[in-house]
Amino acid sequence: MRIHVADHPLVAHKLTLLRDADTDSPTFRRLAEELVTLLAYEATRDVRTEPVTVRTPVAVALGVRLSPPRPLVVPILRAGLGMLQGMQRLLPTAEVGFLGMVRNEHTLAASTYAERLPHDLAGRQCYLLDPMLATGGTLSAAVDFLVRRGADDITAVCLLAAPEGIARIERELAGLQVPVMLVTAGLDERLDERGYIVPGLGDAGDRLYGVAD
Ligand code: URA
Repeated sequence: MRIHVADHPLVAHKLTLLRDADTDSPTFRRLAEELVTLLAYEATRDVRTEPVTVRTPVAVALGVRLSPPRPLVVPILRAGLGMLQGMQRLLPTAEVGFLGMVRNEHTLAASTYAERLPHDLAGRQCYLLDPMLATGGTLSAAVDFLVRRGADDITAVCLLAAPEGIARIERELAGLQVPVMLVTAGLDERLDERGYIVPGLGDAGDRLYGVAD
């Protein structure tokens, strides 16, 4: 897996505000959206394009446009939803699919409870949105899901990642023929005993949407 940790003062600034326990939900949602737009710029560096010509008021110029099939953006419910608008700002023509995955708080195993995705993803570049790459179970299962549908290029966009999660994904996806890239705003120290990223930013879903029990 290729890993890109965005190194930019605006990314660091927004991430610091997101980490702050005193940042309220409306501010957290706005910052997460802004941060994802910055990450989307990095994540789409290899988006496929094809050459076109365009007539300017003066002459004909060579340019590019996104090549079909349209990229697919897949937020992992629920916290990934908080990243969707930020991604769509840069990729407004992308299709959007949804993957509902939940992590068992005791075993930390990920399972799929909902999906709304095209059946055939052959030739599609897919962008998975999940704010926290913690144990890696959810992201690994999501990548596996997309690959089974035929996706041939997958980029995961995460606000934060933990070394344990990256190691698990690399272990579980070893031998996968499909290129996978991770773009994140920060690589943190470790996981705690509850599977939270340290220092992290807490439960991203709760901070975006409040606690749902
Ligand atoms: N999920 C979160 O929302 N936060 C963490 O720190 C780990 C998993």
